Amino acid sequence: TIYNFGSINLDHVYQVDHFVRPGETMASESYQCLLGGKGANQSAALAKAGADVRHVGAVHSVDKLILKQLKDVGVNIELVAQIDMPTGHAIIQINKNAENSIILYQGANHCLTEEQIDGVLDQAAEGDWVLLQNETNLVPYIAKQAKSKSLKVAYNPAPMDVSITKPLLDSIDLLIVNEVEAMDLVAVDSVNEAVEAMPKQFPNLAVLMTLGSDGVRYFEEGTDLYVPAFTVEAQDTTAAGDTFIGFTMSAMFSGLSIEESIKQGCAASAICVTRIGALASIPNSDEVAVFLSH
Ligand code: ADP
Repeated sequence: TIYNFGSINLDHVYQVDHFVRPGETMASESYQCLLGGKGANQSAALAKAGADVRHVGAVHSVDKLILKQLKDVGVNIELVAQIDMPTGHAIIQINKNAENSIILYQGANHCLTEEQIDGVLDQAAEGDWVLLQNETNLVPYIAKQAKSKSLKVAYNPAPMDVSITKPLLDSIDLLIVNEVEAMDLVAVDSVNEAVEAMPKQFPNLAVLMTLGSDGVRYFEEGTDLYVPAFTVEAQDTTAAGDTFIGFTMSAMFSGLSIEESIKQGCAASAICVTRIGALASIPNSDEVAVFLSH
């Protein structure tokens, strides 16, 4: 089982002529309400890849529909607390140039309690993994408790907050970062410097570093792998990283080699970037198998 302690957001997406100005009231051209959040996306990707994933988080008790959406793609939602706090959400304006302007309210995502976390970790068994991002509260607590129970911990520190992430790394088995997160973490200005610095600064950590259309690097004591991305016509890279994480972890969990697992992740995220949207753009395992057979 993979226990993903992560955010669940409602993304309110408005197509607008221009970003609303101070004092202005403006009608939007369209509106969509979508399930989002890195946590929910990664759980969905894990489930679509075929993994046994239990999502741990919190939403407002009225928002049963979004839980159903997660459940419908195969995510176990029994450990999502239904509480009296607004569900985390984002108000997203998209203008004519496809730029966005976002207000984020963390809401229930920041209402995890130590009691909830302890209750979940008490159920976990040897060999189970814990997955974390930086979109909930108590991330350091979860990592430390998981480690003390000898569970494996994978951590995608997104959005990066060096003050939270750095002290945590002792409790982590697998760190998953994109280029920007890696550069922030090792405090350098270029991707090349980050690639150099990651294995030097964290010699005891397994690190997956995603490089967008350039593919993926993997570092672990004495191992340095590079797996290229697949060449596709990218439309929208939203959720590419989340898709990569879900499919790679699912493959690792099922016993594939790290190189084979990364290849699964690259194939799934290559499909994802050819589609518009977040959750809706994540493929399932059959689609990935077909993609890889060509
Ligand atoms: P994030 O979405 O977190 O910023 P990346 O941009 O590094 O993460 O993308 C994650 C993975 O998705 C990459 O390692 C790659 O395999 C795949 N990917 C991203 N962009 C493209 C692209 N334009 N073409 C093919 N694959 C891509």
